[in-house]
Amino acid sequence: FFQVPNPINEPIFSYAPGTKEREQLANKIKELRAQEIEVSMRINGKDVRGDKKIAMNPPHDHKHVLGYYYEGGKKEIQDAIDSALSARKEWASLSWEKRAAIFLKAADLSATKYRMELNARTMLGQSKSVYQAEIDAACEWVDFLRFNVHYATQIYADQPISSPGVWNRVEYRPLEGFIYALTPFNFTAIAGNLPAAPALMGNTVVWKPSPQQIYSADLLMKILEEAGLPKGVINLVFADGPEAGDVVFGHKDFAGIHFTGSTKVFQLIWQKIGNNISNYKSYPRIVGETGGKDFVIAHPSANVPALVTALIRGAFEYQGQKCSAASRAYIPKSIWSATKELLIKELATIKMGGTEDFGNFFNAVIDARAFAKITGYIDLAKKSSGVELVAGGNYDDSKGYFVEPTVFVTDDPHFVTMEEEIFGPVLTIYVYEDSEWEKTLQLVDSTSAYALTGAIFSQDVYALSEAAKVLENAAGNLYLNDKCTGAVVGQQPFGGARASGTNDKAGSYLNLLRWVSPRTIKEVF
Ligand code: GLU
Repeated sequence: FFQVPNPINEPIFSYAPGTKEREQLANKIKELRAQEIEVSMRINGKDVRGDKKIAMNPPHDHKHVLGYYYEGGKKEIQDAIDSALSARKEWASLSWEKRAAIFLKAADLSATKYRMELNARTMLGQSKSVYQAEIDAACEWVDFLRFNVHYATQIYADQPISSPGVWNRVEYRPLEGFIYALTPFNFTAIAGNLPAAPALMGNTVVWKPSPQQIYSADLLMKILEEAGLPKGVINLVFADGPEAGDVVFGHKDFAGIHFTGSTKVFQLIWQKIGNNISNYKSYPRIVGETGGKDFVIAHPSANVPALVTALIRGAFEYQGQKCSAASRAYIPKSIWSATKELLIKELATIKMGGTEDFGNFFNAVIDARAFAKITGYIDLAKKSSGVELVAGGNYDDSKGYFVEPTVFVTDDPHFVTMEEEIFGPVLTIYVYEDSEWEKTLQLVDSTSAYALTGAIFSQDVYALSEAAKVLENAAGNLYLNDKCTGAVVGQQPFGGARASGTNDKAGSYLNLLRWVSPRTIKEVF
């Protein structure tokens, strides 16, 4: 096997005032705001438009129109499946390094020629700040592409032993059928990786992005095609979810789903697949990353400034719309007043507004539905007894879907905002007695059905290791003295168990292994 280009994480641009990149990005945003683009589906390498014309608006400026996409229905989903199935044979028999070269080229194009536009589309379409866009649409997307190639080589190179007169080998073939990629709005990188990873392993894909991410998905698709992705390998479709699901999960050649989204949708999909199980040619691969109710627990020895930084960044970057976002925290009484004081002081410095102003750390939540859900929790908490508002709590959707970073403290560790996923900028804190550290660890473990991320803050090494042990099943990604978001491809493989997903670790060889069906061959001389 060949040595592939060394995977290193794509460096993060600063966009500091006075830099050329800042000017380029600002210009790209201006240019895009002045246009109304038209986005088509891409089926078998062709533009396809459905009957339903739908506007795309920036969540922070919802009256502005960025363009339109054309939603299809059952027919287009069926066409996309046919296209994937007819492209499959040729794509699967292409040598892996030819496939890899396409994705490596897409990585280079994304890191250079299209970097500004990827960021600008993510900032405008998904309301991400400049930094949040850069670490996602530029860096993480590029990292997924490059590291996937690196991990694929490890998979292909993993071969059994042989003996004199016998040559054993394993071929890592793609699955027999098509893959369905159902992707989220909150990361452009994840939206791109969910179809790209199975395609790299030789599969062909039907990709249905979240409607709120179509503005950037369109560019991802263009980049992949410019890098040389043959027609039919990834088919981009826009359709109503349940309608598309009926066609996809009812198809005998459905071979697997690569999903990031809500727990509820994932469970419905799993049931649908179960109901159809005897109709499929093979048992479909079900790979999903779903919700989280991610925790931060501080020991009395915790470093307070580090803890406060982690709470603010973990809970509020990208408006808390990360599966990994900190949304429940457990702080000991002895450090609570210092923590609270610093939290309030730091939060007061946060600027909220449109993504066009690079000074805004905090932007809008994704849409009217999210706004209603999040503010519903805030209203409920505000009027509940035993719950105190520490910071934020205001919201306004007149121009964009703005919700202030909001912190509550509750005397009930099972209060609804300590247990349910809100997927927005709401952090709830429970203050525990210092003497109840052990009991609180149990509480953290048992409170939520999820197990995605968590953070432990302690300068006492025994407490740190005890907490990590007690919480061994409470998080697929555990952070010791750091915030619980921002996993980096190649550094912290990402994913959780329990209700948070199948824990197949995005951006790792474990994930890629799910997209192959190995054939073992024994040859005797
Ligand atoms: N990988 C992201 C992180 O570590 C979260 C992904 C998600 O929200 O789905 O913050």
